[in-house]
Amino acid sequence: MTAADSGSLAQRAWKALEAIPDPEIPVVSIRELGILREINDHDGQLEVVITPTYSGCPAMGQIEDDVRAALEANGLSAAVVTRLAPAWSTDWISEAGHAKLRDFGIAPPHKLPANVVQFARGATGNFEAVQCPHCGSDNTTETSHFSSTACKALYKCLACLEPFDYFKPY
Ligand SMILES: [Zn+2]
Repeated sequence: MTAADSGSLAQRAWKALEAIPDPEIPVVSIRELGILREINDHDGQLEVVITPTYSGCPAMGQIEDDVRAALEANGLSAAVVTRLAPAWSTDWISEAGHAKLRDFGIAPPHKLPANVVQFARGATGNFEAVQCPHCGSDNTTETSHFSSTACKALYKCLACLEPFDYFKPY
């Protein structure tokens, strides 16, 4: 086996870990959500850096267990480091992650344009329209600020009348 076949330790670890599904929304991986931050190789000692999503989402222990199990299954071991700063943001969710959320029936979070948000709120009295993941209509309304988890709000589409979850920007 050549070096190209096996790849570097860090590359092997990325391969082993990047597809691990999020415990709450299994259609997206922890890499697509931006939870899996870095894999560092310190002279053969691997270090995996993960950043928790909302503090209200009780999935971090599960993710750490999944990371360890996937490493072990691939004959790797690493120190798993939880990094809290900078804090995770929905802006870290990749484009592929957005598309998968939509396919799953969850409206992906809006990007956070820090200077625009305040203005938009003040000017119109409501937030940028959330698009229905089923039919694409902007004609939607929030029915509950908290859905199955604190991360999501429950919306209803007034065009196709389907309820859906909105992944709140954070
Ligand atoms: Zn709709």
